[in-house]
Amino acid sequence: MNNALRGARQLPFRACIDLTFNRTIDAAMNCNTPLPSRMWPLFRKHDTSAQSHTLTEFNYNEGAYRLVTKLLVNENGGNTHTVSYYQHTCTCGKWQMERFPCSHALAVCRFRGDNHFSIINHVYTTMTYKQQYNDGFSPLSHADYWLEANWSIQADNSKCVVGRGRRRENRFRNEMDVHHPTEPRKCGLCHQPGHNTRNFSNSQPRFNAM
Ligand SMILES: [Zn+2]
Ligand SMILES: [Zn+2]
Repeated sequence: MNNALRGARQLPFRACIDLTFNRTIDAAMNCNTPLPSRMWPLFRKHDTSAQSHTLTEFNYNEGAYRLVTKLLVNENGGNTHTVSYYQHTCTCGKWQMERFPCSHALAVCRFRGDNHFSIINHVYTTMTYKQQYNDGFSPLSHADYWLEANWSIQADNSKCVVGRGRRRENRFRNEMDVHHPTEPRKCGLCHQPGHNTRNFSNSQPRFNAM
């Protein structure tokens, strides 16, 4: 949320709603890739590395395959994984966990000449993504036509600190940033409690000059 609202900050409340509302419509309706913008690059990445695996078919009818990943110069890779194609599982654990094919699964799919989308769970498709927003949007009418709300927004004045000079932070403080009084403060340098960066030297043993 902190990232989604970047650039929308310090706008009047209505402008902020308009901006995030229009951004959401944009993202949902103008998606032209087969998978939504989050998943498409990931798919491409998996599919590219799929092409460097070595595949052994153990049983076509049962969909049992062994994949050995390419040995890299940094001595990574060279791992062996077993794909159960019909069960949509792989020993790397990712396929069954994310329901999105790992590079090993995609290698098998490619080898069998199947359509990639036949093994991608429908929740990841652009179609599903668009359907979620399909009938949710209608243009906002002029504020004069809005119904009177029986509540009003209460400002949290503790968050409205107006300091002098340039704002030094882009971040909106939220619950995660609040310090709990029961938790000891830790030093930013060594992450130990009992002192801070300003009195750091006080905690160090002193050597008297001779
Ligand atoms: Zn895998
Ligand atoms: Zn320290």
